Amino acid sequence: LLQMRGATKAYGEVRVLHGIDLDIHAGECVAVVGESGSGKSTVAKLITRLESATGGTAMWNGEDLFTMPQRRLLEVRREVQMVFQDPTQSLNPRMSVRDIISEAWVIHPDVLPKPRWRDRVAELLEQVGLEPDHARRYPHQFSGGQRQRIAIARALALEPRLIICDEAVSALDVQVQAQVIRLLARLGREMNIAYLFIAHDLPVVRDFADSVVVMKSGRVVEEGPVRQIFDNPRQDYTRNLMAASL
Ligand code: ATP
Ligand code: MG
Repeated sequence: LLQMRGATKAYGEVRVLHGIDLDIHAGECVAVVGESGSGKSTVAKLITRLESATGGTAMWNGEDLFTMPQRRLLEVRREVQMVFQDPTQSLNPRMSVRDIISEAWVIHPDVLPKPRWRDRVAELLEQVGLEPDHARRYPHQFSGGQRQRIAIARALALEPRLIICDEAVSALDVQVQAQVIRLLARLGREMNIAYLFIAHDLPVVRDFADSVVVMKSGRVVEEGPVRQIFDNPRQDYTRNLMAASL
């Protein structure tokens, strides 16, 4: 699905990514972990072209995301959705849940004809474990975990092939984290969605990720299947990330 090779990023003179290789296959969950400032969010921003790469390539279905024309990019932005840490920042407080989810179809009108929006909102809410009736409510009327479910429903509205979760569960308490991760895992299986799942530490990705990429100071310092990283970490740095929230 996505093959990143030698991706670099510099802000002026300051280099923050020093050649990142990353492979994501369809339906697979790749976790990216690493300490604060290691460059995890920057990788996400390059994939979504919120920032432009300084060098390297990122092939998406045979086309380089880093150089593709704006017109194609708009189509890719439907296929690649993001869920962020703090849904209070990404969910407009003045919009109802119905409008928040439907907005996706305003931007991408080919996905679903307007007469079907209403039913589809109800379906999506059900898929993420909310009530159809919740469509009338506003973001402040939900708990943190429920708000994250709304953000997930909005991402699903565009039938993405990849969802980038940037610390999407980090602000939630442990039990709610586990619920949201179980939801993502189920949706991934049912709809063949791949994830780039960004987290600070390792415990949270143990049951969800297929493979893990460990980042430090803008470099990948270790990577492999999730079991291998947990059972045989090669670096003390990785061991520390594992112990982080246990
Ligand atoms: P965190 O876990 O805290 O979210 P992160 O791994 O996501 O950290 P990034 O946000 O990717 O880290 O930042 C990587 C480095 O790039 C940091 O040193 C940061 O200061 C720097 N950086 C990020 N955005 C900019 C910017 N717009 N201008 C200059 N430097 C930036
Ligand atoms: Mg970050």
